[in-house]
Amino acid sequence: MSFHIVRTRRIGRQHPLVFRLASGFRRFQHRWYHPEEPLFQKLRDGQTPLALVIACCDSRVDPVLLTDCRPGDLFVVRNVANLVPPYAPDGGRHGVSAALEYAIKHLKVQDVIIMGHACCGGIQALVSGEDDSGDEFIGPWVDVARHALEKVDAAMPGADRAERARACELWNVRLSLDNLLTFPWVKEAVDEGRLCLHGWYFDLQSGELLEYDAKDRVFHPLVGRPHLHAGHGAPVAGKRV
Ligand SMILES: [Zn+2]
Repeated sequence: MSFHIVRTRRIGRQHPLVFRLASGFRRFQHRWYHPEEPLFQKLRDGQTPLALVIACCDSRVDPVLLTDCRPGDLFVVRNVANLVPPYAPDGGRHGVSAALEYAIKHLKVQDVIIMGHACCGGIQALVSGEDDSGDEFIGPWVDVARHALEKVDAAMPGADRAERARACELWNVRLSLDNLLTFPWVKEAVDEGRLCLHGWYFDLQSGELLEYDAKDRVFHPLVGRPHLHAGHGAPVAGKRV
């Protein structure tokens, strides 16, 4: 069977979602495909992304949108709860490991960013521990972060579910950073100064972007609360970075 581009069909235009997304694609074309914008002329020859970003699937936390990047800027892996399973050269189908290997060995990225976020459904599934949901794949997948939850429960006895979830989201960023270092070629690149690892957390409640400080083992604001001015109908808020 072969596939043909049939330019006369218009069925998709009658579907509201397809219409909306196709309209968006036209705006994308208008932005990036014109003679004065040579970006895609360059990208046709290959990619040299600035960084590998490992983020959650969550629709609210698109790394390219959050960082206002251009096509070709970020090599992105997204999965439920921005997890990095530890190095396991067992012949299995390891999607995160494959992307990591490609980014580091072939694209030679110099920075890897783990981007966690607030209100993460994957972490909430881990924290709730409900095994009667009928789900087949979510539980075993988020169990990759169980060590983070164990750390939280040891450090915060008596915490309620919301507190445990937020702390686990933050610990999970640290865990993914630790798991990156179980890959021998990642550790080697870090030890040789060819690769830098970053742990970020997008607090979509406050609008802040936090960065993990491995030396002090705390998260600091990398970008503070958003500037809310009169044009947005809200008062100026708190400390800014
Ligand atoms: Zn998430």
